[in-house]
Amino acid sequence: MSIAEARALVRNNRQALVQWANTKITIGGGAPVRIQSMTNTDTVDVIGTAIQVKELAIAGSEMVRITVNTPEAAKAVPHIREQLDRMGIEVPLVGDFHYNGHTLLTEFPECAQTLSKYRINPGNVGKGDKRDRQFGQMIEAAMRWNKPVRIGVNWGSLDQELLASLMDENSLRADPWSAKQVMYEALITSAIESAKRAEDMGMDGNQIILSCKVSGVQDLISVYRELARRCDYPLHLGLTEAGMGTKGTVASSTALGILLQEGIGDTIRVSLTPQPGEARTQEVVIASEILQSLGIRMFVPSVTACPGCGRTTSTTFQELAKQIDDFLRLQMPVWRRQYPGVENLKVAVMGCIVNGPGESKHADIGISLPGNGEAPAAPVFIDGEKKLTLRGAGIAQEFQTLVENYIEQRFGASDTRTLASATAQD
Ligand code: SF4
Repeated sequence: MSIAEARALVRNNRQALVQWANTKITIGGGAPVRIQSMTNTDTVDVIGTAIQVKELAIAGSEMVRITVNTPEAAKAVPHIREQLDRMGIEVPLVGDFHYNGHTLLTEFPECAQTLSKYRINPGNVGKGDKRDRQFGQMIEAAMRWNKPVRIGVNWGSLDQELLASLMDENSLRADPWSAKQVMYEALITSAIESAKRAEDMGMDGNQIILSCKVSGVQDLISVYRELARRCDYPLHLGLTEAGMGTKGTVASSTALGILLQEGIGDTIRVSLTPQPGEARTQEVVIASEILQSLGIRMFVPSVTACPGCGRTTSTTFQELAKQIDDFLRLQMPVWRRQYPGVENLKVAVMGCIVNGPGESKHADIGISLPGNGEAPAAPVFIDGEKKLTLRGAGIAQEFQTLVENYIEQRFGASDTRTLASATAQD
């Protein structure tokens, strides 16, 4: 079954709308799977936060969440928005609230109005008789300002009263569930019952998104399969506290890949701990790569490169592959507007004659570099046919120019046709 068929089959037929200025982002229903991220700056630092939001937006984040944890942070939110608007960055801002969200959203109406969506964690809205009242205050703010909410449960901050009551119920079962099953049930119940409570208060069910984040791959898959079976709200997917580097990347890709393949998930975030010195934007790059690898959405041209082996002991092809990949990514903000469809381009950079010509023929444009013992010549294949051979020290630059010309010719021409027909229709 294709992903499109799987997505058509799942019952996530509700659709939420997140908007700011001219940006309108739909989540759920037939909308594309959206990419989200979150800043790690102090929200009180207006300039620092605005700059990081801008970086994340340029990297491809379609919504950016910021921590709103103190009165000072709430006061900073409208100023961050002003800075972004001045920079021409229209990405919607999502407020992340825990413990005091009811107070902040009530006492700082400008903050409540400026944010495009609120994240509410039902495990952190208050205890005992305060819980429903404080949760209600946040839902009232969302309704007053016409904002969607994500009811985001996290097993690190699960509603302990709910968990205790489900454990009591479980102890009375003839055949009790495992502790893990009770935990899954608590996560799902917390999310769905909170959503129902919000709807009972009058909130439009189409403005509610749910998430149940856990940090284990198998746990996430089990929880979301069940959550998707039991409700039709759009679902935000993410492996919480995924970790650093390779571990975090692989764990997130595995969990999200399996669920997305089954048609589950309407927005995603890769919660990566940045390595020292690593850009925060890496999590957005990985999220885009997950969607692109699955063929769900295309963002940048793809570069096919072989891993190299004993037939190619030089690093020339690795360097060329990296150079082309970097070049394509760097140009995309401009190319996306200039060359519609360029994100579907396939480039191959291969290390020797064994798979080089074959793989290059499958790409739109590909180069097969000479391996050990081969003549120092690099055939270039365009649209499946060998067109020319590059030689000498300038191969990298010459191939880059060929790629650029190919893009101009193929996607620039279609751009011109599109413009021409649009003008004719006008
Ligand atoms: S294409 Fe050649 S260099 Fe690359 S992995 Fe295959 S055999 Fe090795």
